[in-house]
Amino acid sequence: AHPPLKYSRVMLKISGEALMGDQGFGLHPPTVARIAAEVKSVRDMGVEVCMVIGGGNIFRGLAGSAQGMERTTADYMGMLATVMNALAMQSALEQLGVFTRVISAIPMDQVCEPYIRRRAVRHLEKKRVCIFAAGTGNPYFTTDTAATLRANEMACEAIFKGTKVDGVYDKDPKKHADAKRYDKVSYDECLAKHLGVMDASAIALARDNDLPIIVFSLDEPGGFRGILAGQGTYTTVQ
Ligand code: UDP
Repeated sequence: AHPPLKYSRVMLKISGEALMGDQGFGLHPPTVARIAAEVKSVRDMGVEVCMVIGGGNIFRGLAGSAQGMERTTADYMGMLATVMNALAMQSALEQLGVFTRVISAIPMDQVCEPYIRRRAVRHLEKKRVCIFAAGTGNPYFTTDTAATLRANEMACEAIFKGTKVDGVYDKDPKKHADAKRYDKVSYDECLAKHLGVMDASAIALARDNDLPIIVFSLDEPGGFRGILAGQGTYTTVQ
């Protein structure tokens, strides 16, 4: 039998860049496969897993608009990028025998399912990993906000934000040797000090719904699973 789980349903948010490995752009299949294996190990504990993947490895709306493209058009391109990443993750998870659904905020029936809340909940109850794609479906938002929104709608108990470092620091730990990691930090302190956990709208949405954000390192093998089993270093934003 499994030890008691800290959470039974969680949202994993990763950036698109987490899938590109050292390439600087696009998808790096071994990296996608490695993250899929981390997700499988958590699903195998009996945890119901939702995922949101960003699109920054392919296209960001702000970058497009900085080059003169209309912002909303650029944002739709960014949302489409997240669909590609979701499909790549779906494929990697299926190769490991994990049942998944890609659920898009923008209907594209030939590619994936449209978002229907009750249907998504049912998938989770059947232990399918639900990958929510196309962000919130609206320009001017980010996938951090989409992850927070879907986590609330799916009644997730926490958002796991996978990053390159093992938590939230008072300054960039890759630049400052004396940077201090928080074990716990409040939503308001994150907002006031611009601690860069997620964007401000996502943090406010989590705060207003008492949804804890767990910031952890995706580079640590077994890290995601470890936290659910009550181990490891991470920061809880609460
Ligand atoms: N995006 C959007 N609305 C959303 C989510 C995303 O318009 O609800 C667009 C936005 O242009 C963004 C891009 O999709 O730049 C990719 O998402 P994000 O920047 O959040 O990806 P990440 O940084 O996590 O890889």
